[in-house]
Amino acid sequence: MRKNNKIHLFTQLLLVFFFVFSSFGLKAQKIDVRIFSTNKIKEISLVPSFGNYVLQLKKGNNKIEKEIELNRKDIIKIQAKNNNIGISINDSLIGDYEKVELLSQGLMNFFKISTDNSDIKPRHYDDNLIITLKNGNELFLINNVELESYISGVVQAETWGATKNVDFFKLQAICVRNYIMRNAKKHSKEDFQLCDDVHCQAYKGRANKAEVIFGAYDSKGEVIVDSLGNIIETLFHANSGGYTESSENVWGRPFSHLLGKRDTFSMGGKSYLWEKYIKLKDWKRYFKDKGIDVRNDSIENILVNFSQKDGRKKDLLGVPLVQIRKDFNLRSTFFDCKEWGSEVKLEGRGYGHGVGMSQQGAIIMCEQGYEYWQVIEFYYTGAKVKRVDEEKEFK
Ligand SMILES: [Zn+2]
Repeated sequence: MRKNNKIHLFTQLLLVFFFVFSSFGLKAQKIDVRIFSTNKIKEISLVPSFGNYVLQLKKGNNKIEKEIELNRKDIIKIQAKNNNIGISINDSLIGDYEKVELLSQGLMNFFKISTDNSDIKPRHYDDNLIITLKNGNELFLINNVELESYISGVVQAETWGATKNVDFFKLQAICVRNYIMRNAKKHSKEDFQLCDDVHCQAYKGRANKAEVIFGAYDSKGEVIVDSLGNIIETLFHANSGGYTESSENVWGRPFSHLLGKRDTFSMGGKSYLWEKYIKLKDWKRYFKDKGIDVRNDSIENILVNFSQKDGRKKDLLGVPLVQIRKDFNLRSTFFDCKEWGSEVKLEGRGYGHGVGMSQQGAIIMCEQGYEYWQVIEFYYTGAKVKRVDEEKEFK
């Protein structure tokens, strides 16, 4: 059954509050995410923007030396200097410590952080911040944050602007949760779980869009599993061009949930079509260098009339299309060739490797009224949405 999946903004906001409040008191799963992980930060200033916070100041062996209750709009300056972390609040000096923790009390708390790097705009983060030293003169910053708040932050950083459809954000939230469950040990040797760079998942602070927050909380605990019950890697690309690709054709490894299939939902959208012109002599020389006799008329005919109208092929005269895509910097492997004077015209469809979920196809499905689980089952063959105990799964 299709449904109208546009929710009135006010209703969404009420639902967000409902989810946040109803999870209060329950054990919320938290995650440690290193923030500003690609920047050298020597100084930050923090302002508690919402809720209640205390500042715990620690020395050797995690011993609490001082605990300060903060007022909203207090400005806490934190500086790495001489193997210590110097603290001042509203310009009055507090002292030097080894570890500083900004800890939220109760529910719905977030703080603002500005750094000494003028290229980075101030950001807001939910929940807690743990500050230690790196190399004696840099701050090492970890946002200890509730899982669903982190998930909404990632979804907003990566996909906001593409649509306002709630089911699409729910779908994105589940994919982010799958990534977390599969990769939570990626940085375990470095005392945190994930970084905020694209190395893990881009995360630039808390989400503030109701649709995104709603998507994360309404799908709490939901992950995508394959037919054997394993949490899958949710590969995606921008647009499949009308046919998705099998993982085997791209990486040589088959997966039962990553099979190529016809995908009419992706026929449209801004990344659907592309074209490229290549000098015929360069195109022929490329294949000649691969050991192909391009003087043969029938071979030349194939080189300028290659077609994938009936679906994706793996190679052109034995040269893998993934290799051709890489060598000519093409948007996709899904193209046809046409003779065009002294050139060959490549008429392409789609953007990206084509494996798994087509993001533009998913948006179109959601906007047509399909529910998030129907989109998942369409793009990941045999996969299902399953609810798990986040806390148990996380260990
Ligand atoms: Zn990382």
